[in-house]
Amino acid sequence: MTHRIGFVGLGNMGGPMAANLVKAGHRVTGYDLAEAARTRAADHGVAVAASAAEAVTGADLVITMLPTGRHVLDAYQELTVAARGALFVDCSTIAVGDARVAADLARVAGHRAVDAPVSGGVAGAEAASLTFMVGADDPDFAEAEPVLAAMGRRVVHCGASGAGQAAKVCNNMILGISMIAVSEAFVLGESLGLSHQALFDVASTASGQCWALTSNCPVPGPVPGSPANRDYAAGFAAALMAKDLGLAADAATALAVPAELGRQAAELYAAFAAGEGGALDFSAIITTLREDAA
Ligand code: NAD
Repeated sequence: MTHRIGFVGLGNMGGPMAANLVKAGHRVTGYDLAEAARTRAADHGVAVAASAAEAVTGADLVITMLPTGRHVLDAYQELTVAARGALFVDCSTIAVGDARVAADLARVAGHRAVDAPVSGGVAGAEAASLTFMVGADDPDFAEAEPVLAAMGRRVVHCGASGAGQAAKVCNNMILGISMIAVSEAFVLGESLGLSHQALFDVASTASGQCWALTSNCPVPGPVPGSPANRDYAAGFAAALMAKDLGLAADAATALAVPAELGRQAAELYAAFAAGEGGALDFSAIITTLREDAA
């Protein structure tokens, strides 16, 4: 089944995602505040509207891919012009609480809503190989799944509204902590006189194996495609990792969960992202850990 889709937020992720929906045969009308994003989307067959409300008018499915919960909540206030009963799918990474408020806003306006944040980065968005983590009722999940499958390789139903965002913050807390763990190991190895390649050859096939090491290795050499080989050009920006770890730490505080390492990771990334590191790939955290060791 093809949909008339309104797509709001055509940035690094949303742009290629909208392009993949066009490729799958959907009628996609999009909007972004940034002219460059609008132009790029138009080049990929997205019909560009003059406002978010115009993009969504008459749509039976609305996708948002915006920076933060504030952006999503603001957008949801304005998007009531969608066709009655439209399915709202928010793919941004936002707090579980904000996701539930957004879903309530959509429902009050006579629509349905699911949260469907993603993992896989810009490369995954371009290659339509994202993993979607979905919080939805069963019928809404059934309707969203084939649309999400046009933009990703895995679509996981995590539970009711908010469960997708819960899975996303937990996953990225693992990722933030494991990137720091891998970076600390390389810095200690350097002080012990161990070559990067030797540590990689052992840990990548031993119990230290993890994605932060084998796909996004924070030192140049062992994984030629990792951002460390191109001066840490992102990739997944440290500022976004700081945001996601902040969401995890806030959730832990609200629910009285200790999550000590998650909180420490949030502090380290917040400090790193506040300076020039914010735009760099999150694996560049190794540079501050190395400075601290020197
Ligand atoms: P981005 O900054 O490239 O894109 C966001 C876009 O939203 C921008 O182009 C901006 O102009 C637009 N925008 C902001 N307010 C708007 C409004 N009111 N109306 C229309 N457009 C508006 O960010 P991104 O990298 O595409 O990330 C989007 C979301 O996806 C974030 O929540 C992020 O945490 C999440 N995410 C990003 C990655 C990644 O690797 N970049 C991976 C997974 C998840």
